[in-house]
Amino acid sequence: MSATAGSPRDLCLSRRAGEVCTRERGHRGLHHRRGTGLMWTEPEADPPMCPGGGLAAAVAPELANGFPGGRALCPVCTRFVVLRRDGTLPRHRSWRGSATRGEEARRREWFNVFGW
Ligand SMILES: [Zn+2]
Ligand SMILES: [Zn+2]
Repeated sequence: MSATAGSPRDLCLSRRAGEVCTRERGHRGLHHRRGTGLMWTEPEADPPMCPGGGLAAAVAPELANGFPGGRALCPVCTRFVVLRRDGTLPRHRSWRGSATRGEEARRREWFNVFGW
């Protein structure tokens, strides 16, 4: 069994205040973000599901590069999510920071152009 440690899908990804746990999924003990002194317990972790699910929303305007690709901005957690057919937000995980730097840059550009 040669598990490829370090690939994102194998990470715990518990979140607290914008930081994600970089330990392996299913680990024991405290959550920890590698490279920081941050540790937290399960009860201290952010609730994973956003309370904005079920709210009516509209598709967000797009940047020249197509971002956010037909998704709507959740007014609660500011995640871009794909709307359901009835025009409401699906249940989704709360936004707690970008997974990639590219996504972060596009989000910043979007908020600069379109604001709230
Ligand atoms: Zn963890
Ligand atoms: Zn949300």
